[in-house]
Amino acid sequence: MGKLTDISYIKPLLGRFGFTFSKQLGQNFLIDESVCPRMAEECGAKDCGVIEIGPGVGVLTKELSSVAKKVVAIELDKRLEPVLETTLADCDNVKVVMGDAMKMDIAELIKTEFDGMDVVICANLPYYITSPLIMSLLEKRVPVKAITVMVQLEAAERICAECGTRECGAVTVAVRAYSNPQMLFRVNRDSFLPAPNVDSAVIRLDIKDTPDIGKTTPRHFTKTVRAAFSQRRKQLANSLSSGLGIGKADAVSALENAGIKANARAEQLSLDDFKRLTDTLFEEDV
Ligand code: SAM
Repeated sequence: MGKLTDISYIKPLLGRFGFTFSKQLGQNFLIDESVCPRMAEECGAKDCGVIEIGPGVGVLTKELSSVAKKVVAIELDKRLEPVLETTLADCDNVKVVMGDAMKMDIAELIKTEFDGMDVVICANLPYYITSPLIMSLLEKRVPVKAITVMVQLEAAERICAECGTRECGAVTVAVRAYSNPQMLFRVNRDSFLPAPNVDSAVIRLDIKDTPDIGKTTPRHFTKTVRAAFSQRRKQLANSLSSGLGIGKADAVSALENAGIKANARAEQLSLDDFKRLTDTLFEEDV
C-alpha cells in the first residue's frame, strides 16, 4: 500500500471510490508526512485508548494505531467508509464508527470501548465544529486525560488565550476552567489537500483533575459564560439579562455584588470574575 500522505497514491484511491472533497465537512486531508507522527507522540497516545474525530483517509489513524492500545475513529462521511476499510485493513486495534461526533455520547463510548484504559482524544478537526465540540467535551467532563487537536491558527490562538484579553471567547473560559492549554506547533496550509486559505496549529488541553469553577456547579458556570458571550459587543448587564432571561436590574446587582462594573464586556473578565459572577447569579439556586 502507498503512503497516505502521497498525493499520487491517495488521489487515484479516492477517485476509485468516487470521492470528492466536501468543503462543508471541513475536508482538508494531511499530506505532510512529518505532522501525524508528531501528533501521535505529543498527544500522549502511548499505551492508551484514543478517540479520533474525523479520520478522513486514515492518515493520523494509522500513526495513532502504531502507538496506542486501541483507537476508535468517528467519521461522519459515509463515502469514506469503504476507503477506510481499505487503508486501515492492517490496523487490528482500530475501530471505525460512522456517525456525527457532535451527536454521540462520547462518555458512553469510552465506557463500552476502553474499559480500564486511560483515554485521550486526538484529531485534525473540521473547522466548523471546533469550538462547540471542545466546549461540549469539556463541559460534559468527558473522562479523558487530554484533548489534542489541529485547528485553524486563529481558533488555536483564541482557545489558548488568557481570559480577560481581546481574543478571549466562551471557549477560552471553558478551556481555562477545565484544562491547561498548550500551543504545540504550527502547520502550514500547504500541508493539506486541498490547501485551505489559512494556516493551522496543533494544541493540547491537559484536563484538570478538578475543574476550576469555584463553588458553583458546571451547569451554572456554563450558563453564565455562554450568556456573557452571547452578545459579545454588548455590555455585560445587557447580555446577561437577555442570555439568562433575567431583568436588567438583577443583572446589574449581580455584577455589582461580584465586584464587576456593569458596563464591562465579557472579554474583560478574568476566570475568577466568572466564578464570582456565577456564584452571585445562582447563589440561591444550587
Ligand atoms: N484526519 C484526516 C486528516 O488529518 O487528513 C481528516 C481531517 S479533515 C480536516 C476532517 C474530517 O472530519 C473529515 O474526514 C470529515 O469528513 C470529518 N467530519 C466532519 N464533520 C464531522 C462530524 N461532525 N463528526 C465526525 N467526523 C466529521
